[in-house]
Amino acid sequence: MLQDRDRIFTNLYGFHSPDLKAAQMRGAWDGTKFLLEQGRDWIINEMKASGLRGRGGAGFPTGLKWSFMPKQSDGRPHYLVVNADESEPGTCKDREIMRNDPHLLVEGCLLASFAMGAHAAYIYIRGEYVAERFALQRAVDEAYEAKLIGKDNIHGYPFDLYVHHGAGAYICGEETALIESMEGKKGMPRLKPPFPANMGLYGCPTTVNNVESIAVAGTILRRGASWFSGIGRPNNVGTKLFCVSGHVNKPCNVEEAMGLTFRELIDRHCGGIRGGWDNLLGVIPGGSSVPIVPAHEIADAHMDFDTLRNLKSGLGTAAVIVMDKSTDIVRAIARLAYFYKHESCGQCTPCREGTGWMWRVLTRMAEGRAQKREIDMLLEVSTQIEGHTICALGDAAAWPVQGLIRHFRHEIEKRIDDYAANPHSESVMIAAE
Ligand code: SF4
Repeated sequence: MLQDRDRIFTNLYGFHSPDLKAAQMRGAWDGTKFLLEQGRDWIINEMKASGLRGRGGAGFPTGLKWSFMPKQSDGRPHYLVVNADESEPGTCKDREIMRNDPHLLVEGCLLASFAMGAHAAYIYIRGEYVAERFALQRAVDEAYEAKLIGKDNIHGYPFDLYVHHGAGAYICGEETALIESMEGKKGMPRLKPPFPANMGLYGCPTTVNNVESIAVAGTILRRGASWFSGIGRPNNVGTKLFCVSGHVNKPCNVEEAMGLTFRELIDRHCGGIRGGWDNLLGVIPGGSSVPIVPAHEIADAHMDFDTLRNLKSGLGTAAVIVMDKSTDIVRAIARLAYFYKHESCGQCTPCREGTGWMWRVLTRMAEGRAQKREIDMLLEVSTQIEGHTICALGDAAAWPVQGLIRHFRHEIEKRIDDYAANPHSESVMIAAE
């Protein structure tokens, strides 16, 4: 269990003030100048040694990502872009950081930018996050006023930080779509390579990081890489914000040690499963784009990148969506398919056409109006989308469907049988509503 003294986000619930003075009392901005004086390489090496893996979903090592930025500028400026577009259904962790502990993020931006030779950073915040934008802007203004950041700051490293408000499109959470959007264009993902570290914002070397990845940087550097890497399990270390929603008694956001088991997470922080553990149907453990894991597989699984990947799912953003046996699982996945259809930017044919096709078939399947051979056809189409598109939205749309068929094929078949036996029965009509 994570000890209180090991928590990074000590104001996650907003019990205290988010302003600068209060943040400093909690430890933010403590010894930042000393950290900067250790040099770029020291910061990157510490981040590598800490074992921090990106908190935005992919789990790529953060220190390694920072090291991809050119050591010397070729004349072009370097940029840090913070992805605060948090749009993955089920995910609600970054907004708490921005509302209640924004100075950890502002300080992290300075440290990360310094490590990558960037004198400017942008925080791209999703359109719907209005209160969070105001809270963040207040923190940025306070930091400027106190000369913690700015052209002529007390840290001796000129640094500007801008908060940029998006318009609320899921696809702008994809790093290259986010960059396009910041440049004033439609948020459409770019083909890679070139990668942003070579050719990112305005054609300049850019690193895009998640809010949580940047906000933990200051504390990691202050307390040391070994402190952070000593929490959790090998290759899956540190603390992590989990957002638990759905059929638990007390849905919550909580910072916990990476790798605790699902049962520990739910019993300790969420008051157990609604109706008891026998009532658990399945869990989407990392935001809507990762496949569902059935109850018997998830109950005692470790909540970390590697364990969940071995269960053919993923930790993603650690947005844990719990479903009990009252869930109409086919309809639930059909609803997610609609989301991805709606959010597809339309550039690639497999994604543009395939997401709508999967949604229409799943909608029929939820009602039982389908043939059993269509289940394999649906699976086949999902594999034709996966890996055949410019960005990962295609995969994100395909995986929940694959998870459904892998674990709940019997449920789809039962619907089809019920409908065939009695197309106008009440239960079939209810499923169709
Ligand atoms: Fe756009 Fe979908 Fe292609 Fe991504 S996969 S670029 S969202 S069409």
